[in-house]
Amino acid sequence: MFRSKLERELAEMHKLESRLRSEILASLESRRSTTTDEAEDPEGSSLAFEGAQTTSMLRHTTMHANEMIAAIGRIEDGAFGTCASCGGPIAPGRLEARPSAELCIVCAAKRPTSD
Ligand SMILES: [Zn+2]
Repeated sequence: MFRSKLERELAEMHKLESRLRSEILASLESRRSTTTDEAEDPEGSSLAFEGAQTTSMLRHTTMHANEMIAAIGRIEDGAFGTCASCGGPIAPGRLEARPSAELCIVCAAKRPTSD
């Protein structure tokens, strides 16, 4: 059941990834076609800002997609639901909320992560 959930989420991530990629490409295109004094142009700098945000969103999305691919791999290996650090079980509620979790709540709390 986790597998189908992960696969569904992964498909969403891939959709989001391709949307973000095309947004980045479109904003690069529009920046290339704007005038040379872009630094003076407030619209140009906001475009650049949006581009940076989209790029970081894309990086985040790719990271999550990789986590999900790893989780599907653990399901295949029979290691899913087992903490990668202490070998203990990961609480079902935690897997429910975050199927890509590879650490139990205790180990996750000890380790500084981005989320
Ligand atoms: Zn643990």
